Amino acid sequence: MRSYTLTAPAKINLYLEIIGDRPDGYHELAMILQSIDLADQIELHSISTDSIRIYCDHPQVPTDENNLAYQAAELMATQFPEAFSKHGGIEITINKHIPIAAGLAGGSTNAAAVLVGIDLLWNLGLTQSELEELGASLGSDVPFCVAGGTVIATGRGEQLSPLPNLDNIYIVLAKYRSLEVSTAWAYKTYRQQFGNSYIRNTEDLAARAAAVHSGGIVKAIFAKNTAEIAQKLHNDLERVVLPAYPQVLQLREVFATQEGVLGTMMSGSGPTVFALLESEQQAQAVKLKMREIIPDEDLELFVTRMTTHGIQIVSSV
Ligand code: ATP
Repeated sequence: MRSYTLTAPAKINLYLEIIGDRPDGYHELAMILQSIDLADQIELHSISTDSIRIYCDHPQVPTDENNLAYQAAELMATQFPEAFSKHGGIEITINKHIPIAAGLAGGSTNAAAVLVGIDLLWNLGLTQSELEELGASLGSDVPFCVAGGTVIATGRGEQLSPLPNLDNIYIVLAKYRSLEVSTAWAYKTYRQQFGNSYIRNTEDLAARAAAVHSGGIVKAIFAKNTAEIAQKLHNDLERVVLPAYPQVLQLREVFATQEGVLGTMMSGSGPTVFALLESEQQAQAVKLKMREIIPDEDLELFVTRMTTHGIQIVSSV
């Protein structure tokens, strides 16, 4: 039976603007998504029974149909019934390195890896855009996770346009292990508090999304100006998450005062906060300093860097 091992990188949001409401009830967003080196490893095996099985080394990750990787395999089985009956079931092993419920798209990148892996296992020959389209039905961040890199995402987050790759920028991630922020809560609270300023007219929504394409941070990315990128980081969801979670605010404030930190921001709906730095040495120094200033064992700190790719094959047997 064939098998593939894939690497599934996490993402951070360099930019997240909530533009308005959509007729389908979702928010209209403009985001800049960035793949990072922190990644899960996903092993996919064809098995002789026609079932989908999930194994994961992290106790909080569901191994039933609530797992996004399971849903991705089920979607492939429904979309390609002939291939499913020809090749049999799938066993998926997730080696978790990405903190969960962190705003780092851990579940989404696992789902993207399963789409890419099953396409290979079943020799389907799907294109990147076909994989992205399948991914969009699983979650807004899944299409981005397929090819990754540096991308502007609009609509619900599924309309992607690539930006020049960024890879030489180092990152320190900080997250309290036991602190989770519900993405649904963050968006709902944002709507309650700021919904009256939403753009609702289709033409104005499109105009605002277009303006983001030529905005300051995009110019800085084209210029590969790290300091400028770091100055222009933005996340609307900080307006609701920081006041409700003082620990997240504190991480943001402590990062901002560290030597070498060019900019700091919460990723997605949090609670992970990241800081951008020019070198790995500086990033390691900031990680040590954070540990010294906040000696809480619940605080997880990671040094990572931006990367230019999404799902990649590590090996195949
Ligand atoms: P995003 O940034 O896309 O909002 P996130 O990083 O905040 O995602 P996830 O790590 O995807 O959040 O986890 C959110 C919830 O999804 C978890 O509480 C977990 O129960 C569930 N979940 C389902 N599948 C997975 C998976 N493969 N890995 C991690 N969590 C998963």
